[in-house]
Amino acid sequence: MSTITATQEQDVVERAPKGLFIGGQWRDATGGRTLAVEDPSTTETLAEVADATPEDAIAALDAAVAAQAAWAKHPPRERGEILRRAWELIMARTDELAILMTLEMGKPIAESKAEIAYAGEFFRWFAEEAVRIEGRYAQAPNGAGRMLTMRQPVGPCIFITPWNFPLAMGTRKIGPAIAAGCTMVVKPAQQTPLSMLALAQILAEAGLPDGVLNVVTASSSGRTMGPLIADPRARKLSFTGSTAVGQRLMQQASEQLLRVSMELGGNAPFLVFDDADVDAAVQGAMLAKMRNGGEACTAANRFHVGERVADEFTTKLAERIGSLKLGRGTQAGVDVGPLIDDGQRGIVRDLVSDAIAKGATAVVGGQEGDGRGYFYQPTVLAGVPADAKVLEEEIFGPVAPITSFDDEEAAVAAANRTEYGLVAYVYTRDLKRALRVVEGLETGMVGLNQGIVSNAAAPFGGVKHSGFGREGGHEGIEEYLDTKYVAINLD
Ligand code: NAP
Repeated sequence: MSTITATQEQDVVERAPKGLFIGGQWRDATGGRTLAVEDPSTTETLAEVADATPEDAIAALDAAVAAQAAWAKHPPRERGEILRRAWELIMARTDELAILMTLEMGKPIAESKAEIAYAGEFFRWFAEEAVRIEGRYAQAPNGAGRMLTMRQPVGPCIFITPWNFPLAMGTRKIGPAIAAGCTMVVKPAQQTPLSMLALAQILAEAGLPDGVLNVVTASSSGRTMGPLIADPRARKLSFTGSTAVGQRLMQQASEQLLRVSMELGGNAPFLVFDDADVDAAVQGAMLAKMRNGGEACTAANRFHVGERVADEFTTKLAERIGSLKLGRGTQAGVDVGPLIDDGQRGIVRDLVSDAIAKGATAVVGGQEGDGRGYFYQPTVLAGVPADAKVLEEEIFGPVAPITSFDDEEAAVAAANRTEYGLVAYVYTRDLKRALRVVEGLETGMVGLNQGIVSNAAAPFGGVKHSGFGREGGHEGIEEYLDTKYVAINLD
């Protein structure tokens, strides 16, 4: 990839929509308020987008409610074709979308392109699922009556998404909701609203009727979205973000007994057994740890390595991580971008300092990066003691803490010693061990000899404090369908 020029960057930002998208119209926030979007690699303001008031958010829900009945009746094939066209537009505009995403989120262009392809896949997948919404018909056990079961859209949805995957965390919800016949109000994170606004423009161009998708951007998420969650016209809340905010939103959602899906935080263990192919494990570790600069809920948060291979794994991983180039994501040759903001960098810095103070060694990295942005060096920590906070808390940065174990039972116990349960990674060549360990892990997903699990065709989601509900796969559309049973009297 060649370096993106300043003119290219400027053109893309200038062309990007920056208003609220409500009822098919782009409009300013009431009072003309705006919020600044920052480039985390320079700390400079990239653009100003509309800063919605609670009244603007209610207007967005009004539009979603007004569009719901017609959209539920819209032919499933056409709903699917809109998604399919939107997928094609996303693919055709990958270069431009990638620049926008990199500028607002920081990750290198190649990573933005990978996210865009992944995000688009949810539209392609759910374009195909829209025509497979089925019910059933059965004779009642007593032989007299009949039982008809039908699936119907849940109704207007509220979606709240995080900054780490600005597009994909939206398409995982928007794709199945459109396929199922639901309308929606989406609120992206204030750090990365531009990608979501660009997606709204694409969906409108793909023929999505006015009011089906509405996007509000806001600097005060609680104040803006609270009234929507309390509004009895909303039927579903799907949230991706931190466990703490998810818990608060669930309490709010209980007032109206909203249906809820929660994709929350993670603390993924990465287990390497003595019998593993160490080179393959290092390759998988690079993906599981360094994808998105470690700012992923699926990021390997801690490496538990069998005693016999721990030194070899540490040396090889440190070599790979130490060779990564840190820098601005639009520059050629950069492998790792900045963290999203100073708060996130502070969390990473404190976790590394705590581990080192308790006896861990920084084999590579362990410092902030140079430059004005929120850079932190890719880091490998060896000999991390069990009481280090870095093993307990979500790091959300390019830091790989390594600790060793002596037997399988200890490995599984260590892996499960967390309130989170999103994903785990396991490297072993022993099939029986693989199955025993996979069955014992308390997570919603496992990568077996594989450092990445995300796939639009698979059910993504967690257990324990990582939440509930599944996004993607055949399960993904279930989150947006209610079941209605009809008892039929044939007497
Ligand atoms: P966050 O602070 O929980 O924010 C997520 C979203 O919630 C943002 O849009 C945020 O808006 C909004 N929000 C915050 N407080 C709110 C409130 N009181 N009412 C309504 N909305 C509110 O999480 P984050 O820092 O953006 O994202 C990182 C977290 O997301 C990590 O814990 C990560 O593991 C998790 N995550 C999970 C998955 C998964 O699928 N399980 C995927 C990706 C990320 P503002 O930012 O604009 O305030």
